[in-house]
Amino acid sequence: MSSPDAPPVAAGLSGTSVAAVEIDDVTHVYGHGAAAVTAVGPVSLSVPPGEFLVLVGASGCGKSTLLRLIAGFEEPTGGTVRAGGEPPRPGRGAGLVFQQPRLFPWRTVGGNVDLALRYAGVPKKERVARVPQLLADVGLHDVERRRVWQISGGQQQRVAIARALAVDNPLLLLDEPFAALDALTRERLQEDLRRVSAATGRTSVFVTHSVDEAVFLGSRVVVLTRRPGRIALDLPIPLPRGGIGPEELRALPGYAALRAEIGHAVRAAA
Ligand code: ADP
Ligand code: MG
Repeated sequence: MSSPDAPPVAAGLSGTSVAAVEIDDVTHVYGHGAAAVTAVGPVSLSVPPGEFLVLVGASGCGKSTLLRLIAGFEEPTGGTVRAGGEPPRPGRGAGLVFQQPRLFPWRTVGGNVDLALRYAGVPKKERVARVPQLLADVGLHDVERRRVWQISGGQQQRVAIARALAVDNPLLLLDEPFAALDALTRERLQEDLRRVSAATGRTSVFVTHSVDEAVFLGSRVVVLTRRPGRIALDLPIPLPRGGIGPEELRALPGYAALRAEIGHAVRAAA
């Protein structure tokens, strides 16, 4: 009920009315003239807060470009991108995870996570408590003081995820973060990311070319056409997000059907 005394609610402040990511009629062209390559578009996409959106498509279809536009690393040549209602600013407002962990080799594991907190202005006392907690959240124990080269590739990627989650950014952007890992490590990280994401409710955009990974992780899957990437399929994934084990999830009757539908769309689009 609204009373005459109640302050007017600004459209941008009422939570649900602002999309976490709004992509409006976006096209992106690299280069000029005869060398111009249209990588993406036109694409329009609205991502509500809390969604785990997975972008799937063949190699070269423009997935990374779309993610870079959301991160603010590129400005679209056409259309607009908004993150939390604002033009995205690179290095602000989003945690990023890439295919390679990109850790600082001269720092310890804990030191890498600490740096992200320091960059965000978190005071030292708080950082000391939060670093081990963040590492534990991604399944890392007793490695805080190790050097980056003293842990495995899978553990390094866990550190990269912990670092991306360290700062309370509204957005988590992941570009094929598990593509370079062996199958078993990859499965374990998928499970942990699914659990962590259900617990934090952070809005995420995750890029992959794996159909199974998309169905397993996503609350929504968007399939892109081949270059220039446009939306071929936009599908909600109505599977439970929390309180379910990976095997149980994959055994659900809906799981195989979603996999088949998305796999078909990916093949048709490529
Ligand atoms: P994906 O991540 O789906 O593999 P990308 O977004 O990396 O696709 O690339 C889409 C297309 O844009 C590709 O044809 C790629 O060669 C081209 N491209 C990507 N980055 C650049 C760039 N910086 N300059 C020129 N072309 C680029
Ligand atoms: Mg890519």
